[in-house]
Amino acid sequence: MRQVYLDNAATTALSPQVLEAMMPYLTEVYGNPSSVHAFGQAAKAGMDKARDQVAKALNCDPAEVIFTGCGTESDNTVLLGVAEKYKEKGRHIITTNIEHHAILHTCEYLEKQGCDVTYLPVDEYGLVTPEQVREAIRPDTILVSIMFANNEIGTIMPIPEIAAVCHEKGVLFHTDAVQAIGHIPVDVKAMGIDMLSLSAHKFHGPKGVGVLYCRKGLRLPSFIKGGAQEKGRRAGTENVAGIVGLGAAIELACSHMEENTVRMTALRDRLMQGIAANIPEVKLNGHPTKRLPNNVNYSIRYIEGESILLMLDMNGIAASSGSACTSGSLDPSPVLLALGLTHEIAHGSVRLTLGDDTTEEDIDYTIDVLTKTTQRLRAMSPLYKA
Ligand SMILES: *Cc1c(COP(=O)(O)O)cnc(C)c1O
Repeated sequence: MRQVYLDNAATTALSPQVLEAMMPYLTEVYGNPSSVHAFGQAAKAGMDKARDQVAKALNCDPAEVIFTGCGTESDNTVLLGVAEKYKEKGRHIITTNIEHHAILHTCEYLEKQGCDVTYLPVDEYGLVTPEQVREAIRPDTILVSIMFANNEIGTIMPIPEIAAVCHEKGVLFHTDAVQAIGHIPVDVKAMGIDMLSLSAHKFHGPKGVGVLYCRKGLRLPSFIKGGAQEKGRRAGTENVAGIVGLGAAIELACSHMEENTVRMTALRDRLMQGIAANIPEVKLNGHPTKRLPNNVNYSIRYIEGESILLMLDMNGIAASSGSACTSGSLDPSPVLLALGLTHEIAHGSVRLTLGDDTTEEDIDYTIDVLTKTTQRLRAMSPLYKA
């Protein structure tokens, strides 16, 4: 049976070139990068190269790159660090109601600690406007954190415009760019981004390693307390092989971005057109054009997302639904509800996210299986018959 992996927003396959770059650091180069001897310095050299690769990809200074344990840790470091450091200035944070749990659950934690969080509502496409941000900023606002692109619906936020409003008002701006990196151009200097989170496993790098970009002059307390690694900004012996892999993966993704975007957008559009042409009563979730080149998200009326996923899986296709299936709950996705979808429509949603390895044959096979699956499930659905 054909195996088609269309869950690249959840994680991606490690690229063979990335693995090759990592191998020496999993074998002979095992020194501790903090050690002064040759073993340690060889490991440090690998990390230095990765730091340069990240700096080049983001257009920042290598000294502004902090390696972390994952995207979640980068997000936590920003929210908890800014809240702690600027508590005398104020305790108000602005974010959106469709952020990743790494942001939302940390905000909920901060609310329990006495912070005040504004969750800006998104429109039917998942967008917030710079005007909404401007209106929400108060004298006690210490941080605006808005994701670059959404992980479920792929909507791309107007980041440079939002950052400009924050700067005008003298408020720090952070973006969770975990889904954007490697797919769309991100330039922290040109876009006015103060802090940014990214994660290697979302762009064909290894799991368990991320980056926090933190603009020069802005020093946040270390989230993990301990040694002086990362110039005292993140304690703990570094995941050297992972960091080397992150560097190789970001360089690879960014060097092929233009051609990759063209290729992936064509595949994504082929998938969207195939679904729209073959399956009646579907609704595209997210923005029609301001969306990631690898994201497709549809609500398919009268059937359950979970049933679709099971049948896709039986046919070798890995996809994801809008519902919080990981928690074992059948609640529809809060992101889809935030767009104004009814529970019933939100329930019947599937997310298909493409990767570097996705082919045209994969797409055509998926359209075929999804069409047949929908027909079969609808034939059994009392809602559809009615
Ligand atoms: C995956 C993801 C994260 C979490 O990154 P991890 O490295 O898995 O912790 C955070 N934000 C977004 C938008 C994501 O897609």
